[in-house]
Amino acid sequence: MIFLTLKVDEVLKKPKSGNTAAAIERLFKVLGPEKVSTKPADLFSYSHDYWLITFHWLLEGKVPALPDVVVFPRTEKDVLQALRIAHEEGVPVYPYGGGSGVLGAAVPEHGGMVIDLKRLRDVELHEDDLMVEAGAGINGHYLEEYLNRKGYTLGQIPQSLYPSTLGGWIATKAIGQFSTKYGGIEDMVLGLRVAVPPGDIIELKPHPRTATGPDLRKLFIGSEGILGIVTRAWLRIHPYPEERFLMSFASESLEDALNSVRRILRRGARPAVIRIYDRIETKRHFYRFDGMYGRVGTVVIVEGDSKITEAEKEIVEEEFKGEAMGEEPVKHWLETRFIVKEVSEFAPLGVVIDTIEVAANWSRAVELYHSVVNAMKSVKGVLFASAHASHFYPQGVCFYFTFAGIPPKKMSAAEFYNRVWDSAMRATLESGGTISHHHGIGRHRARWLEEELDGAYGLLKRIKRAVDEENLMNPGNMGV
Ligand SMILES: Cc1cc2nc3c(=O)[nH]c(=O)nc-3n(C[C@H](O)[C@H](O)[C@H](O)COP(=O)(O)OP(=O)(O)OC[C@H]3O[C@@H](n4cnc5c(N)ncnc54)[C@H](O)[C@@H]3O)c2cc1C
Repeated sequence: MIFLTLKVDEVLKKPKSGNTAAAIERLFKVLGPEKVSTKPADLFSYSHDYWLITFHWLLEGKVPALPDVVVFPRTEKDVLQALRIAHEEGVPVYPYGGGSGVLGAAVPEHGGMVIDLKRLRDVELHEDDLMVEAGAGINGHYLEEYLNRKGYTLGQIPQSLYPSTLGGWIATKAIGQFSTKYGGIEDMVLGLRVAVPPGDIIELKPHPRTATGPDLRKLFIGSEGILGIVTRAWLRIHPYPEERFLMSFASESLEDALNSVRRILRRGARPAVIRIYDRIETKRHFYRFDGMYGRVGTVVIVEGDSKITEAEKEIVEEEFKGEAMGEEPVKHWLETRFIVKEVSEFAPLGVVIDTIEVAANWSRAVELYHSVVNAMKSVKGVLFASAHASHFYPQGVCFYFTFAGIPPKKMSAAEFYNRVWDSAMRATLESGGTISHHHGIGRHRARWLEEELDGAYGLLKRIKRAVDEENLMNPGNMGV
């Protein structure tokens, strides 16, 4: 047998003490070689997620950090055994879903054990209870397709539907493109099973509602692997929509489009999809449609029961201030919505591109949009900064910003990247917004979390210490 060792620079690596060799030996003995790997190719595969700056490091032959071992559990019992071994040997543990997180949350910064949950992927439908039950590693697209075949939808369609998992959605508090009707993952989770340190399972049952103290389900939604490993979940589902209307509009200003949506939601209509693109992004996505170019484009999808949908469509038509552009732009959006190629096309050319999602109440929305765009543009090297409004609530809106630029001479891609992010986070906080709407915190956003949470940050740290006394669950993530 040929043993290969992997020699790459590890940009973020901070090795932690612990008996890793003993843990690996025990894992092979207890779980067997088909569920445990120390092969260089596997260690490399789990050294990063989809955090943008990692892509630039990879091009330079660097990774964020290598794990020492990767575990592929097939059952919940396997997860518990691995967790217990990790705790007895003092080895850090990193839950890993699809690796599509964009903030470095799954990076094994201190080395140790990555646990890939993707083999926990069984699924069971409970039609009378309008609920689905599934293993946490189930792939997002597989779950939605399974439900569609049975006549249902979860309504959770993130742009990363194909590369992400249910457990990852729960851990990052993810949201999909159809959120205005179906909500985010937090509106779908009814029950959870979670493996917690040092190797116990807890079950939070899937009742329609329960008033039994603080809702501990919420403790794990958005916890990004720092408190435990989600192994199973029960989720609300919906009958597959009977009717669907596609509408689009061209408005003279972003304010007109935002105000139109605010009025629609105040009247109680809940279109599944609403996306408002600023002028730059309308040009980028809808340049082929006469009447859209140079204006602010909006796509709307209303779906569900046909009678309710008909009424919602009428409300949208009554309230939207702008020229109706018909179905074609929406069809174009549906066809292209999963295409993400800019980073892989432009990063090798030295261009730094990323997206930043934040949210604000309606009263602060327009100010926040302008101040974040202006702040990013003021950073030397930025070529453009733009946004679309991607998720809506009666109380406010999520803006999804995109920036691209070339680092000035003598500045690394990472330094440039951090400067643009700093400018956007500062402008968001000063405009009264929240620094993350759905991508979460991870390692990259951790430095702004304390300011965002203020006094609650100390509480989060205390909860972390109480649940994970040895600090072995995804240590370093979220800065706690
Ligand atoms: C092209 C692209 C488009 C995207 N679009 C969206 C979008 O529309 N909406 C959105 O919300 N996000 C989006 N994302 C971000 C990302 O897909 C989500 O954060 C997703 O929820 C991550 O799931 P994952 O399975 O890939 O998790 P991973 O990246 O593997 O892990 C993310 C975090 O969750 C933890 N984790 C994973 N599984 C578990 C588990 N079972 N138990 C406990 N902790 C766990 C990890 O430790 C890590 O902290 C996008 C990403 C990309 C690359």
